[in-house]
Amino acid sequence: MDNTGSLRCPVCGIQIDLENLQSRVETACDSFGGKKYCFCSENCRRHFLEDPRIAYFSMEIGISSSMPTYSGGLGVLAGDIVKSSADLRLQMVAITLASRKGYFRQKLSPQGDQTEFPDEWDPSKTLTIMPKKVTVNIEGRTVKVQAWLYEYQSITGGMVPILFLDTDMEENAPEDRRITDSLYGGDKRYRLKQEIVLGIAGTRMLKNLPFKIRKYHMNEGHSSLLTLELLRENNMDTEKVQNLCVFTTHSPVEAAFDQFTYELIKQVLDDEYLLSDMQQYAGNENLNMAFLALNLSKYVNGVSLAHVDYSRKLFPGRYIRAVTNGVHSYTWTNLYFRLLFDKYIPGWTNEPILLAKASEIPNREVWDAHVKAKTDLLTFVEKAKGVALDPQVLTIGFARRATGYKRATLIFSDLHRLTDINRKAKFQMIFAGKAHPNDTGGKDLIRQIHDYAAKLKDQIDIVYLENYNMDIAAKLTSGVDVWLNTPLPPMEASGTSGMKAAHNGVVNFSVLDGWWMEGCIEGVTGWAIGPHPRELLIESERREVELQDLYSKLEYLISPTFYTQKDQWITLMKNSIAKIAYYFQTQWVMRRYITEAYLI
Ligand SMILES: *Cc1c(COP(=O)(O)O)cnc(C)c1O
Repeated sequence: MDNTGSLRCPVCGIQIDLENLQSRVETACDSFGGKKYCFCSENCRRHFLEDPRIAYFSMEIGISSSMPTYSGGLGVLAGDIVKSSADLRLQMVAITLASRKGYFRQKLSPQGDQTEFPDEWDPSKTLTIMPKKVTVNIEGRTVKVQAWLYEYQSITGGMVPILFLDTDMEENAPEDRRITDSLYGGDKRYRLKQEIVLGIAGTRMLKNLPFKIRKYHMNEGHSSLLTLELLRENNMDTEKVQNLCVFTTHSPVEAAFDQFTYELIKQVLDDEYLLSDMQQYAGNENLNMAFLALNLSKYVNGVSLAHVDYSRKLFPGRYIRAVTNGVHSYTWTNLYFRLLFDKYIPGWTNEPILLAKASEIPNREVWDAHVKAKTDLLTFVEKAKGVALDPQVLTIGFARRATGYKRATLIFSDLHRLTDINRKAKFQMIFAGKAHPNDTGGKDLIRQIHDYAAKLKDQIDIVYLENYNMDIAAKLTSGVDVWLNTPLPPMEASGTSGMKAAHNGVVNFSVLDGWWMEGCIEGVTGWAIGPHPRELLIESERREVELQDLYSKLEYLISPTFYTQKDQWITLMKNSIAKIAYYFQTQWVMRRYITEAYLI
């Protein structure tokens, strides 16, 4: 446990000089849950302790593969938001669950059968335990909750503390010790217990810290029980609570929102929260976590323009704003492109909007950086799968959670057409993705891709990488030539992996849904698959146009440009950086949250 304090000022990141440390220790404080900090100045000390913070709540936060406390886009986005907040020196504290067994580690048989193993990590190895604990009442028992402190340190100076809530304490009943083990594991009852820990214990844990909270930001509805705790603290003053709360909704379908029967609520949740209050805000039939968050937040946003169009239908009468997701530019830019950007676009790390200047980078250097990234990926694939892919061949990547609406097998709809295209100009494909343990449809998709790969093995090289995580995501989104995405509209609320690809000059080829509705300039930043949602077509016609586009654009636009018009291809790569990456990044997302949600 590090109790000696950091030698970097946690506010501005200035290295505190050792010689003067003695005098600075006067301004050190140990009030952050027992952890000592040294500050470079009284101003910074005050800022750290007294300026109100944003409390950012998320069921999952993905900072790196070594902390497997995320399952997919939602958690990676939360991690990227923390990282950009630290870059911008925004006063934030993030709250999530320790998820000691992670989401899960995926093993695949040669036929593509998925088995799941716990992805255990031990927070005590790298994180600091906060000395003060809190309690919550669950099923009538008192459950103690502790928090592990992780400090996300930005390379540009700032720091954001993340609290990982944990019930694995000797004082707790054996079953309660398991509450914060498995992300999205277990049944409804288990989920509700986790959400009590996240929302209610999380809010109480913040009370232990010397921080004032400006806003409670709920990243998806999992944490929305915090509104009940805030109502209780504020004498049921609804308006006050609404002014404190910000809610970001992430799904275009109501079925995706967590709902609990009031019967279950009565059994599990502390009875000091009145059912009548919950029914007023969260629905009469069931407790709908999204409605609870929505009705107790003044500011509500969706994660792309297209998503907000749908959300307005789900939440009629509510003003829902659109803050389109982004990614943390530095994290998702490959080493070779980092060097290139450092050379031509100094300052891009903290101001990724400068990437708009990428069009000025010489083609040769862009191509060289890409070839290196591609070589790294192919080396990794060979190690992992024993398959030597050809670096000269057009390489298509597809990786995301394996679940029905992402339609990972769409490209295999017409094998004749696909093999014809490959005969004219070769391509190869790399897949990855985990299916949720209960998602049998998702598991089938993984098996089917393995079947197709076996069937086509003499013609098209197709590999499926095991255990998709942030590391593999970074390799894939920088090392392929084309990033394919074929969701069923309107299910992709935003999507972010295509933004990662764009940061590395990887060209997007995607169905018009989520963020791509805003990012796609046909033939300039990539290509669209299928009709614009505004086109009035019946569903079967839509599916038809999607397949037509998928195959025709691959055959007549993508392959010929890649193989015979290299300069034109590199222009597409540079446009991906200058016209996509410069905008779809979390520095910009945070600047918008600050001005539109936090400062109101
Ligand atoms: C970025 C990322 C995602 C999100 O991918 P989408 O294609 O936007 O769904 C999921 N999983 C991991 C590990 C990621 O890094």
